[in-house]
Amino acid sequence: MTTVDLEFDQLNSTVDALRRSISNRLMYGVGKDAVAARPQDWLHAAALAVRDRLVARWMKTTRMQYEQDVKRVYYLSMEFLIGRTFTNALLALGIYDSMKEALASLGVDMEALTDLEPDAALGNGGLGRLAACFLDSMATLGIPGFGYGIRYEYGMFRQEIVDGEQVEAPDYWLRAGNPWEFPRPEVQYVVHFGGRTVQREGRIEWIDTQHVNAMAYDTVIPGFATSATNTLRLWSARATEEFDLFAFNQGDYQRAVEARNASENVSRLLYPDDSTPAGRELRLRQEYFFVSATMQDLIRRYLRTHSTFGRFSEKVAVHLNDTHPVLAIPELIRLLVDVHHVPWDKALDHVQQMFSYTNHTLMPEALETWDVELLARLLPRHLEIIFDINAEFLKQVSEHSDHDVDLIRRISLVDEYGQRRVRMAHLAIVASQKVNGVSKLHSQLMTRDIFADFARMYPERFTNVTNGITPRRWLAQASPSLSSLIDTQIGTHWRTDLFELAKLRELRNDPAFVEAFHEAKRQNKIRLGHRLMHQTGVSFDPDALFDLQVKRIHEYKRQLLNVLHVIVRYNRIRENPQRDWVPRVVMFAGKAASAYRMAKTIIKLINDVAAKINNDPVVGDRLKVVFVPNYGVSVAELIIPAADLSEQISMAGTEASGTGNMKLALNGALTIGTLDGANIEIRDAVGEDNIFIFGHSADEVDGLRAGGYRPRQIYEENAELHTALDQIRTGFFSPGDPLRFSDIFHTLVDWGDHYMVLADFASFAKTQEEVDRRFRESRAWDQSAIENVAGMGFFSSDRTIAEYAHDIWHVKPLEMG
Ligand SMILES: *Cc1c(COP(=O)(O)O)cnc(C)c1O
Repeated sequence: MTTVDLEFDQLNSTVDALRRSISNRLMYGVGKDAVAARPQDWLHAAALAVRDRLVARWMKTTRMQYEQDVKRVYYLSMEFLIGRTFTNALLALGIYDSMKEALASLGVDMEALTDLEPDAALGNGGLGRLAACFLDSMATLGIPGFGYGIRYEYGMFRQEIVDGEQVEAPDYWLRAGNPWEFPRPEVQYVVHFGGRTVQREGRIEWIDTQHVNAMAYDTVIPGFATSATNTLRLWSARATEEFDLFAFNQGDYQRAVEARNASENVSRLLYPDDSTPAGRELRLRQEYFFVSATMQDLIRRYLRTHSTFGRFSEKVAVHLNDTHPVLAIPELIRLLVDVHHVPWDKALDHVQQMFSYTNHTLMPEALETWDVELLARLLPRHLEIIFDINAEFLKQVSEHSDHDVDLIRRISLVDEYGQRRVRMAHLAIVASQKVNGVSKLHSQLMTRDIFADFARMYPERFTNVTNGITPRRWLAQASPSLSSLIDTQIGTHWRTDLFELAKLRELRNDPAFVEAFHEAKRQNKIRLGHRLMHQTGVSFDPDALFDLQVKRIHEYKRQLLNVLHVIVRYNRIRENPQRDWVPRVVMFAGKAASAYRMAKTIIKLINDVAAKINNDPVVGDRLKVVFVPNYGVSVAELIIPAADLSEQISMAGTEASGTGNMKLALNGALTIGTLDGANIEIRDAVGEDNIFIFGHSADEVDGLRAGGYRPRQIYEENAELHTALDQIRTGFFSPGDPLRFSDIFHTLVDWGDHYMVLADFASFAKTQEEVDRRFRESRAWDQSAIENVAGMGFFSSDRTIAEYAHDIWHVKPLEMG
């Protein structure tokens, strides 16, 4: 390695310097003349100019990490829902205004450019967005963290709404190239599949495998207002050369090329979040593919500065975002034992000190398991390792439990009922030093219900870390109007210390501030109205109450409860149009998993109801219903700052935390919600006068179910609900296809209403009347909204990451010198 000091241009960020950089990048990076440059080319050039300014920080961070021999965190996630990078990077570097001016001097309008950047939508929803917020906070806090995942060529599908129905279009987000990533063709690892194991000279070898290479692509993650950065390393599949040789020897060129392409399928697309058998095997391959490459990379990096594995677990923490990356555990053991000849016990010790796992769901059907036969075929060595871990574990349990056979069966890593399956969550718990839930309630229920046996055995292993969101993206970037108002009142420091927002609480009694706050929100409503007017042709009164439910479409999140209330409200307006109605715009946004029939039917119902209501002249501006297509990070940034009311209405005990609830409250929306997930902690933070809580609690839900829940009785007894459900059943909203929604009716009335929509309806509708009353008192409403913003300090992902760093990973921030 050469130690020559490179001579490169130190880049400053004056307007002139930026203009020069953009021009250079357009010329030498994009290869275009200004006269021929399209807006996309300008964006690309500007992005490269920004990236150039991040690189020096990145190099410095890496150098510091090696010098200080820091402990590193590897955050493993199947999903990173990053969204756009350009504006985020400008704000992190503090060069937003200079860049805007530099571009303007080149005749380019920056705001028009930013909308051209595709979202990096490498995730389905909350879990992937959480990973993205965590990367931002780790970098900002200087925690030496690496995100590891898959560079899907096709991200989350793009949702179009055609005749009220969801249509999925491929999201080829790399079409125009990705200026933010650095391909690392020199960083490639072989990942094996299939084959069999043999014993040779006391060691186990995994042979006769198929191979695919994993190639690294690196993205710089800038910290905000710090020179610390981190790296997101995503793996892309490449066919191996052996593969070529083998294929050519078969003498069939076309088939050889096809087979080669097929071997690269493993990083082709992000699986939608449903549990259909189609594509299950490929999904398992993806999980193994990315953790194998990651574990090899982690070992290589460790061995660059250490000659033995003695300090391995002191220097490395591995975090599993849900169970999808759990195969990292047997893979690391395999690499240590079979490849690096570390004794089994020592390898297991390291693993148990290094790993930690976050659980994201309480719904038993959503806990990941894999068929033993499939594992035996695809990963025979890993299955042996899992069996060996299980044998040791069950032996201990047996000794400590006086051979409690039922207990052993319940907690075994292998589900032996029916077709044998490996329980990935059990493997994660047994091999981790910490397991956490993502809100107080969720962590309680997790140890009480799904993991009760484990929690009794290892009480010290279980903990809670309530989720958070990054205030940089979700307030500073998403709502320039509100954040600049806040800046004028309390300064700019809240971006890195969100508890500063508490200072706004005193200002609730300052009429000028309340007025300015109202106006900032109104700006955001107008901004959204313009956009939606273009998209949907429906116009919006910015003084109406903007009521938002934006999240994946799922029965447990209960969009149906919201729709039922909309229908009842519609019927009431029609009966009494002259009453003094509070005008409302009810907005929905969210994708349905492509194989989830009921969720898609719910989208269609929302759109049919919207068409009926929006075209009813009796209703006018009193009620509008909109389905905003293609929910994703960028749509969220546009829509959330415009909300007055945040619908967080999942059945209590089903939403692990929620983070949409936090984004909305941070933007001054009042929540109407159940006592579920982080809603409870939001209530505690903003005060119960500033939130609308309704419905059954988690314990009450259990009680109701135990007592024999009878939804039909509720249908019979509540006249308004009865009418609304009958309208759904008989085609009032779908006259051309009257039976279209009959399954929705039966699900709620006759088939058990699993998520207790009807049980919570009356309470919900009554609470919505309370919402109207409060909204009429505009000033009091704004004061509550201010209390919401002021109370959100706790929900910064900086706080969340500080807790992970201190309590789980035991890592310290890097000293940047
Ligand atoms: C925050 C966020 C989510 C999660 O929303 P919940 O309301 O917590 O389910 C999902 N998708 C996107 C794009 C988000 O930004």
